[in-house]
Amino acid sequence: AFDVLVVGGGPGGAAAAVYSARKGIATGIVAERFGGQLLDTMGIENLIAVTHTEGPKLVSVLEQNVREYDVDVMNLQRVEQLLPSSEPGGLHELKLASGASLRSRTVVLATGARWRQMNVPGENQYRNKGVAYCPHCDGPLFKGKRVAVIGGGNSGVEAAIDLAGIVAHVTLVEFDSKLRADEVLQRKLRSLSNVSIVLNGQSTEVRGDGQRVTALVYTDRSSGDEHVLALEGIFVQIGLLPNTEWLKGTVALSDRGEIIVDERGQTSVPGVFAAGDATTVPYKQIVVAMGAGSTAALSAFDHLMRTSQV
Ligand code: FAD
Repeated sequence: AFDVLVVGGGPGGAAAAVYSARKGIATGIVAERFGGQLLDTMGIENLIAVTHTEGPKLVSVLEQNVREYDVDVMNLQRVEQLLPSSEPGGLHELKLASGASLRSRTVVLATGARWRQMNVPGENQYRNKGVAYCPHCDGPLFKGKRVAVIGGGNSGVEAAIDLAGIVAHVTLVEFDSKLRADEVLQRKLRSLSNVSIVLNGQSTEVRGDGQRVTALVYTDRSSGDEHVLALEGIFVQIGLLPNTEWLKGTVALSDRGEIIVDERGQTSVPGVFAAGDATTVPYKQIVVAMGAGSTAALSAFDHLMRTSQV
């Protein structure tokens, strides 16, 4: 059995595995896709102390970092079920899609999240070529350019306010007949001179010149008219879905499906910790996930000490 078994091979899971292995305890990491969201990311410029890197490059450094230690890396394996130990200090069991099962004294859940997509033609083709999902990450790339933000909830309106300070013009496109963001954010948004708001707007297509995005096509749902908005960037802000469906009923989740953690990464189940985008942590970023992964691993070690298992 493992002392610490990490589920997820993104930056959160990798940090947890390194911190745990450095305690000299039996550590494993099981991941459906080692690297996680980093595999879909191009330029990264906000990982502190690394001025510029690219997603796949960072994944290979992370993997090298993990493999420097005695960590059992199980890639391309999906976990389908967590069976928490019935007695304190007992073994938790993780069932894999392959039919195998793994046992561990503690577990760190770092299964990350995925952005909800518009599912319109051109979105995938121009992903990272104008279609973006993270304003904190990619906002500066659109300095002085025209962008749209899709989604009028809190994250969409926050993104539009944030981007308005960097880009030339922001068009916020909301499907509904009203914005759903908090009133204070809506007020702030409406006070900005370089923001326009489109209500009843259904995005139907991302257009480009083969290299980069050139326009967003949307239909005005009240009139049925089609509009073509010339721009350079589209930020999709219609939800971040945590990869936690398989944990429902086992660990406490928020109403958005995020694993509820305290400041130590402790979940509702003793001996089970969590980190990164899958949790209630307010900011979903690489550097935040790495910090949370380290915290969760240290908490797992602390738990093992207190239950006299190390
Ligand atoms: P993830 O990276 O999502 O990794 C989750 C891991 O869990 C994966 O290995 C996955 O395969 C695995 N997994 C999931 N479910 C299971 C299961 N049931 N069984 C086994 N394994 C499972 N952040 C920045 O700070 N800077 C940026 O520039 C930046 N750009 C981004 C660009 C894009 C296009 C995207 C999508 C995200 C970007 N982010 C950026 C966000 C950043 O990638 C995430 O915050 C970070 O990857 C979260 O790390 P994580 O370890 O929590 O989860």
